[in-house]
Amino acid sequence: MPNRKARLLKLQLGKCPWCGLSFHNWDVLEEDHITPRAIGGKDEYKNLQLLHRHCHDEKTALDLIEIRKKDRSKFLEKLSQFWEKFDWNWINDIPNFIGHTVRKSDVTNGQHTE
Ligand SMILES: [Zn+2]
Repeated sequence: MPNRKARLLKLQLGKCPWCGLSFHNWDVLEEDHITPRAIGGKDEYKNLQLLHRHCHDEKTALDLIEIRKKDRSKFLEKLSQFWEKFDWNWINDIPNFIGHTVRKSDVTNGQHTE
């Protein structure tokens, strides 16, 4: 058994945190990132746990939901950052594009004061 697994097994007192049952010799154990790496979980002991293979499958299914949510919020965040770059006028509930937002400092720097 790899060192890492043996250490995790000891830390978990031989139990699966997902179902709460003790591991048996015949169980297939898998390493799991408690916070999935796809949403920022680190590859370190405090973010690792050993799970039964079937428990891992269950958790992965839930993780995927979280990952999808996160991706969605990231996408919406990017989208709103994009829209903020432009000026819009709402006319009859329809957004009308006016142009790039020009920061005040850009304007004053470009002006001649003679
Ligand atoms: Zn389990």
